[in-house]
Amino acid sequence: MRTTITVFLAAFVLTAVGGMAASGDHSHMWTKIEERRTAEGRVICTWECPMVSPNHFTTTSGYGYCSHPQ
Ligand SMILES: [Zn+2]
Repeated sequence: MRTTITVFLAAFVLTAVGGMAASGDHSHMWTKIEERRTAEGRVICTWECPMVSPNHFTTTSGYGYCSHPQ
């Protein structure tokens, strides 16, 4: 019984770590691909990171400017 639970947990952890390696274990290199300005003066930027496949995106926003993603 205990062995079954241990194997189950090991498989679960391996799956979780594998999923993170695919998308999160690298240094992002954000390139701004879009900048929109709303009527209220808010700037919304879309950034693309091509470091892993598939490319992933993030957005930042602020009043007057948009900050670089972390
Ligand atoms: Zn990235």
